[in-house]
Amino acid sequence: KRVEVPLAEHNIDLKLVDDNAIRVVKTLADAGYEAYIVGGAVRDLLLGLRPKDFDVATNATPEQVKGLFRRAFIIGRRFRIVHVVFGRGREHEVIEVSTFRAMLDASASEQVAGNEKTSKAELADKHHAVDASGRVLRDNVWGPQIEDAARRDFTVNAMYYDPQKQIVVDYHGGIKDAKKKVLRMIGDPATRYREDPVRIVRVVRFAAKLGFSIDPKTRAPIRELAGLLDDVPASRTFDEMIKLLQTGHALASIEELRKQGLVGERTGVFPILDVVLADANKHPERQKFVELALSDTDRRVNEGKPVAPSFMLACMLWHDVLDRWEKLKKKGEPPFPALQQSVDAVFDARIGDISGRGKLAADMREIWLMQPRFERRTGNGPFALVEQPRFRAGFDFLRLRADAGESDPELARWWEEFSLADEEKRARLVEQVR
Ligand code: ATP
Ligand code: MG
Repeated sequence: KRVEVPLAEHNIDLKLVDDNAIRVVKTLADAGYEAYIVGGAVRDLLLGLRPKDFDVATNATPEQVKGLFRRAFIIGRRFRIVHVVFGRGREHEVIEVSTFRAMLDASASEQVAGNEKTSKAELADKHHAVDASGRVLRDNVWGPQIEDAARRDFTVNAMYYDPQKQIVVDYHGGIKDAKKKVLRMIGDPATRYREDPVRIVRVVRFAAKLGFSIDPKTRAPIRELAGLLDDVPASRTFDEMIKLLQTGHALASIEELRKQGLVGERTGVFPILDVVLADANKHPERQKFVELALSDTDRRVNEGKPVAPSFMLACMLWHDVLDRWEKLKKKGEPPFPALQQSVDAVFDARIGDISGRGKLAADMREIWLMQPRFERRTGNGPFALVEQPRFRAGFDFLRLRADAGESDPELARWWEEFSLADEEKRARLVEQVR
């Protein structure tokens, strides 16, 4: 049932709404289309938070949307959307515009599987695909707003906001659930998790990020269906993990994943988190390093500062690198090549295919390879190191190791002083080292 909620009831502060998002909605509306801010942004606005990105939903097709903006790009295959770009360089902003999508129910999918072709099934055949376990592979059939709402995941993620009329369109009681701070799956939870097992991770992420509870019926099937995540492409679970670590509640999220049996007990979904937990069990004295790293990340996120996924991942996999490095050195391998080999082995074992993540991997590698170079404080070494573009990240990593009691605090202090000093003082600092 379509409910239009007025300002008096939703109380969204227009000042929290991005100007470019309003511009996109207005341009589409002026051209005669329906257009709304949708999804997570509406949820955050209702909670009085400033959304970090804005999605717009419309009944215009991607081609029609593209035609209305100067800089607009159709992207994606599995899920075609339009990126409307404003501004340039570091300041640029992207508004994602998606076309209302149809709900293809089980019967439509069955018709696709069988040979009985109605026109809807034929259309579905071309633009929508489901695999044997009910997983949606492609999803590009356009439909009315009511169906677009029904195929979203949680009630609080399925609301539409019109910033011009200042109304919220709510089909699934999202406003009520936002007030009660509860995550409730739209439709039958087990069916929805089967369609897309990544929703299992999303519910955990949103619970941690928003401090919401999970409705019992939404929570109930998680344990039993967790195994479905094994078949999800690693790149999707990897991306969800990165998002989860950047919620500002990384520690709480990992704890929740553990409770749901997604990490530790059933392994393989998040190989990196498995490693961290296993390491903490085996070496309780090492727990402090990762805990410090994650609580530091949480603090930065909550202060509105950016966090680098490469830094977080470098922290989480550091002990794995160290163990392999120690082993190789014991075998008589010279230290630096041994470290390089260990880093390669960790990428192979824990991240797998890093295509498309070249930058992330390169940054992690640099942070790690810099560590032994901090030990050598003679000659030209320090002067070259401090000029490295990634020096700051490498140094922050060193300081974290010191804070966790894993490296000499004096060394971190020396490097801090050195990095802040002028040439003359730097020369003196190097001389003082023996
Ligand atoms: P965040 O603040 O973390 O970006 P979000 O709610 O905006 O949260 P997105 O992943 O950006 O999450 O997705 C945008 C919207 O698309 C969601 O609010 C939801 O309505 C819909 N959506 C995204 N992923 C799924 C999914 N796997 N199943 C169903 N709906 C989804
Ligand atoms: Mg979003």
